Amino acid sequence: MPTPGFVTVSPELIADLQTVVGADQVITEGNKLETLSKDFYWYSPILRDRIGDRNASVAVKVSDLEQLRRVVAITAAARVPITPRGAATGNYGQCVPLYGGVVIDLSAFDGILSIEDGVVTAEPGARLVDIENQARPLGWELRCYPSTWIKSTVAGFLGGGSGGIGSISWGGLREPGTIKRFKIMTVEETPRIITLEEADCLKVFHAYGTNGIIIETQLRLAPAYPWLQMVIASEDWDPLLDFAAEISADANVRKRLVTVLENPLGSFFKPIKKFYPEDHHLIFFEIDESAADAIAARAGALGLKVPHRIPYHYPRKAPMLSDYTWNHTTLWALKADPSWTYLQSGFGDNYREQFQLLHQQFPGEIMFHLEFTRGNPKMGVKNTIACGGIPVVKFSTEERLKEIINYCTEIGVGTANPHTCYIEEGGRDQGYDIQLELKTEADPYNLLNPGKMKQAPAPPFAVPGSMPQFLFT
Ligand SMILES: Cc1cc2nc3c(=O)[nH]c(=O)nc-3n(C[C@H](O)[C@H](O)[C@H](O)COP(=O)(O)OP(=O)(O)OC[C@H]3O[C@@H](n4cnc5c(N)ncnc54)[C@H](O)[C@@H]3O)c2cc1C
Repeated sequence: MPTPGFVTVSPELIADLQTVVGADQVITEGNKLETLSKDFYWYSPILRDRIGDRNASVAVKVSDLEQLRRVVAITAAARVPITPRGAATGNYGQCVPLYGGVVIDLSAFDGILSIEDGVVTAEPGARLVDIENQARPLGWELRCYPSTWIKSTVAGFLGGGSGGIGSISWGGLREPGTIKRFKIMTVEETPRIITLEEADCLKVFHAYGTNGIIIETQLRLAPAYPWLQMVIASEDWDPLLDFAAEISADANVRKRLVTVLENPLGSFFKPIKKFYPEDHHLIFFEIDESAADAIAARAGALGLKVPHRIPYHYPRKAPMLSDYTWNHTTLWALKADPSWTYLQSGFGDNYREQFQLLHQQFPGEIMFHLEFTRGNPKMGVKNTIACGGIPVVKFSTEERLKEIINYCTEIGVGTANPHTCYIEEGGRDQGYDIQLELKTEADPYNLLNPGKMKQAPAPPFAVPGSMPQFLFT
């Protein structure tokens, strides 16, 4: 049964697409098409319910600029929707097409063009791990990357992500200066290239591929350091939390990761739980190797345990602590018990009090997974260390989840709602008007990932029921 508003693709368009990329790069049916129509939307029981049945009519894999240009030109001429896709690790159904049409898989359009003077220039499908591995011997590293960096593409991270490992020192992706330049392709019969520099890049950042197809990115890098991974453990929450906050705020300690995990989250991490004692709250640090002994001594003096230290390694050899942080924590919780889900929260300076209130109000329904970062757009915090995180939350009913989010708002906890596929309902960023302005210019027929930008005019193929409703729609 086609979903409401589903746009089919004519045999003529399929034949034209095959001429451009080869028959084996055009997928029209079966499990492969289903897989290429989905991302990690299933993290959310609400997205699972609302968009689990949405699929593309056809998926096309492109591997260079010329193939992309021709695919876009013929698809735009047929007025068929286009959804760009990288590695599809997005959590909000960002690359699940609401209206069928063509999914363009850009993961093989993946060149790293240059790394010079602390700037990487890369094609959209370049993997973050490859950028990091090529940059480090030259003395550079990514300013921040998601815990999915082994799979994630650079354009997918910039189109759908926000921050990650490194954000404790460099803030999130929207931090001025981190994204230096985008080149995007417009969706028209004769596609054009638009170049956006510096602050203008925010027009495309986190826009879910709704207002231009990223064909080239430039990111500023950070000087590379030798990092050490360290676990700190304690049966007591308060001293552990205080130590995480103290190290986060200590400008003399260079760091890439400060994750705090309330017990029993650590018990979900099967491959690494042998490295720390049971029933403990945990900190996962990535800190400058040269500071490690001093940090361990400071932790010991406070009665905290330091059960595990491992050098960072390139190329990657498992296990890495970062594989259990950011939104990987939720993944491990879901593996342990599928009834967990999550929120994305920004806490105030009174975060200790906020944790207590949430525990009192929702006993047994919330476990704190915190990420300390420099700045937090959810809370309007710039340049100072902020306590945010991805709390793991028990899902019982939609009403209860809404109650939890509403209570968070009431006590001053900001939420970037992960249970919606609409950009504006995620509420992470300001600047939707500049994103819409670019959409008008770069996607005049409203074909790009249609429906995801709520403030854009309804796409031509919209029918009643084609736009799913979420908790706050
Ligand atoms: C286990 C897990 C952990 C995660 N951890 C983090 C984390 O630490 N930090 C974080 O920010 N996110 C995190 N995420 C979310 C996700 O991994 C990141 O957003 C990721 O970087 C997306 O990259 P991708 O290549 O998979 O993008 P995709 O999911 O393929 O795409 C993301 C969005 O970008 C658009 N897009 C893709 N390519 C282009 C293009 N060329 N032009 C225009 N738009 C494009 C897509 O249409 C989609 O809307 C996590 C997700 C999972 C499942």
